[in-house]
Amino acid sequence: MRFDVMTLFPDLIRSCLSVSVIGRAWEAGILDIRTHNIRDYSADKHRRVDDTPYGGGRGMLMSPQPVYDCWKHIAEELGERPYVVYMSPQGKVFDQETAVRLSRRAHMTLLCGHYEGIDRRVIEEIADEEISVGDYVLTGGELPACMVIDAVARMIPGVLPEPSCYERESFFTGLLEEPQYTRPPAFHGREVPEVLQNGDHKQIERWRYEAALALTEKNRPDLLK
Ligand code: SAM
Repeated sequence: MRFDVMTLFPDLIRSCLSVSVIGRAWEAGILDIRTHNIRDYSADKHRRVDDTPYGGGRGMLMSPQPVYDCWKHIAEELGERPYVVYMSPQGKVFDQETAVRLSRRAHMTLLCGHYEGIDRRVIEEIADEEISVGDYVLTGGELPACMVIDAVARMIPGVLPEPSCYERESFFTGLLEEPQYTRPPAFHGREVPEVLQNGDHKQIERWRYEAALALTEKNRPDLLK
């Protein structure tokens, strides 16, 4: 899958995604992650990308021109209109269902705002949807974009060893995942549940389901509605 990221801080995206599972899949060519520095598209002689907001108020706003020209460049490269997700605290809150939907695409472009955000007119013109990573405000859209790419990319065939790696995890099934344990069988006086050590797969499956249900009821009862 191809990801294009429009950002003022391409190094942040690259350093965040170039390690571990995602980094290996990127290096292997399973993922094609391209960063585009919005500043490179500024028509201003000082390469400015922001300006003061109309109506007054504090802070600076990203100007529409460099964002639009960056988008146009990606559209030309792709030979089609890019599917653009604007990372925004005002968007729909990201969840596993959205990650699954986006993972079925061959391509997506993520637009990262900074400062007070981006001039609304260019968002209206180029964005297909707006995604928030939660009800809080960050400095920029780069960390949210990395979170979305990570969650989407791990469902691309070849990124994880097999689909069961993500299909059995929290949210995918509608529940949180059950508690898990590895060796040693006892740690600081806490024992691994006996049922997980007896080799009876039917009993283990039942225990897992009941433990997942109990954990979901305790921590996230909203998921059971
Ligand atoms: N003035 C905006 C508001 O009050 O809604 C907040 C702008 S924020 C400081 C700058 C940029 O960070 C946004 O344009 C967006 O790209 C990104 N951002 C901040 N919080 C985010 C969140 N919760 N989810 C996704 N992106 C976020």
